[in-house]
Amino acid sequence: MKALLIVDVQNDFCPGGALEAPKGGHIVPVINKLAKKFDIVLASRDDHPPQSDHFKKWPVHCVTGSEGAKFHKDLDTSKIEKELLKGTDGKDDGYSAFEAKNTNLKEYLQSRDVDEVYITGLTAEFCVKETAIDSSRNGFRTYVVDDAVAAVQPDSDEERDAYIEMKKEGVIMIKSSEVK
Ligand SMILES: [Zn+2]
Repeated sequence: MKALLIVDVQNDFCPGGALEAPKGGHIVPVINKLAKKFDIVLASRDDHPPQSDHFKKWPVHCVTGSEGAKFHKDLDTSKIEKELLKGTDGKDDGYSAFEAKNTNLKEYLQSRDVDEVYITGLTAEFCVKETAIDSSRNGFRTYVVDDAVAAVQPDSDEERDAYIEMKKEGVIMIKSSEVK
């Protein structure tokens, strides 16, 4: 069974947001189209309290209940069966969807007989990378859908390194058109 995991497609990571990926908006229609090919669709959200150690490293973003924490308005949320909330306790960074506090993602996927995870969303260098690496380490065959992911700093060394690191961990890169 395959699952689509949409990582952090939230206003603060899209153009105009506190931590924007310049092409964050471009991936939304790609993800919407892709979701039609999946029976299981999950989405993570950064959901930080107003005071968080995480904000010593980053500008304030995705504070619980704020506009920035909401999904991008054009994201089709109708197929999302489970939201994974991360970075919620004021101490953790919550980069990976596998660190969600409201659901144990590994157990959830296993309970749904998922063996393949397709990852999309924001941002390539941080939450997508950490989620993909955790997914692979947890034993799922893990794909990152290239054209459904965007970086905070496109074409940077950080973005290139993220891809190298993911591949080293066994993550497979795929185009949305190649997903069956
Ligand atoms: Zn965050």
